[in-house]
Amino acid sequence: MDQLHGVLEDLDRAGLEERQLKQLQSLLGTIAQSNGFWQERVARLGQRGDRNFVVESLDDLQSFPVTAKADLVQDQNQSPPYGTNLTFGRNDYSRLHQTSGTTTGTPMRWLDTPESWGWFLESWAQIFRMVGLTPEDRLCFPFSFGPFIGFWAAFEGANRLGNLCLAGGGMSSQQRLSLIADNQATVLCCTPTYALRLAEVAAEQDIDLASGSVRMLIVAGEPGGSIQSIRSRIESAWGARVIDHWGMTEIGALAVECAENPGGLHMLESECIPEIVHPETLALATADGNGVRRGELVITNLGRVGSPLIRYRTGDLVEADSEPCPCGRALLRLKGGILGRADDMITIRGNNVFPSSIEAILREFKELVEFRIEVRTVRSMHQIRLQLEPQPELSENAAAELGHRIRGTIKDRLNFQPEVQIVEQNSLPRFELKGRRFFRVDEDL
Ligand SMILES: [Zn+2]
Repeated sequence: MDQLHGVLEDLDRAGLEERQLKQLQSLLGTIAQSNGFWQERVARLGQRGDRNFVVESLDDLQSFPVTAKADLVQDQNQSPPYGTNLTFGRNDYSRLHQTSGTTTGTPMRWLDTPESWGWFLESWAQIFRMVGLTPEDRLCFPFSFGPFIGFWAAFEGANRLGNLCLAGGGMSSQQRLSLIADNQATVLCCTPTYALRLAEVAAEQDIDLASGSVRMLIVAGEPGGSIQSIRSRIESAWGARVIDHWGMTEIGALAVECAENPGGLHMLESECIPEIVHPETLALATADGNGVRRGELVITNLGRVGSPLIRYRTGDLVEADSEPCPCGRALLRLKGGILGRADDMITIRGNNVFPSSIEAILREFKELVEFRIEVRTVRSMHQIRLQLEPQPELSENAAAELGHRIRGTIKDRLNFQPEVQIVEQNSLPRFELKGRRFFRVDEDL
């Protein structure tokens, strides 16, 4: 017998879809009555006709319009301070969170009712079960608990499960390291960058984190959690397992890496409907010649009834894993986590190519120190030029041969031949964490 029988994240495909349809029908029934944002949007942009908010199958979702972050920002600007995506009266909302505003210029505000917030915490309960949290785990959140949503829900979610939770707001990195050590914290929730920063401070203080109490780091907020080189640095510094996690202020906490299969994210399809669409046509992505289904992640969340999102464009580029996961769950798995931003997609000779796929191949070549990927548009056609900086000890011949091998590997895997240019030592910029190695050059202009 399956000991986890009855747990939502372990439903089979048919069970998940049945639950999704029921929740979707219930959500749409509620917002049809009172949510001005969706009433207006579905009437104006949807291909719904007289069906309005009535759906008979999950496929019906395709006739609803997609919504992007810019639409939400515009709505909040037009109807300040909270916009019109509110299903209930103002007094029914008990929490306000807001984004940092770094991408849109103005912070986006998000209200939750106690029920919607409870749904958020239920997602975290599923996440914690999937990563193997035990009642003995003590969680530390080295994070400033301000209006940004990050880690509030994780904190309260773990707290609701009965685990000891340590808030690390208003502390220096050194004080946080003491908080972890004094309380023998076993799980840390933070960004990949901050996990490395704490490791750096620990090293300065001669603290050996690898022999410390932390056994797992749940990281979010940056793509680093699924990038092997960054994971390895965090894992060796802390002597602990890295678990990647994904969520957004306006969407919820809806994806996590399972304990059994590193390097990917399961979508919590018990709480949302994910779609993978072509970023330009917005049609559902189909498998390419190599059987890869890749595109932009679009999400409908099903339990945040007070301020729901239907077919929301995350802007994140993902690839569906076609292999069954060893954990046995039917949940969609995103191979390699979030691969990058969907806006970066380019079409070369009929193939959809993302700079992140080229980067993944380049990183396999240890003889390469640094690189730059250039997309040139010549007579409306895309071409790729790679500037490659090899290890200093490589001879000129060996460097040329390396360029040749890289070109061949890219041709085999991505079906196009890039132009390859070997550049001189130290001619390309170096980066700490978030590098800028992808450039567009328009030669038509
Ligand atoms: Zn799994």
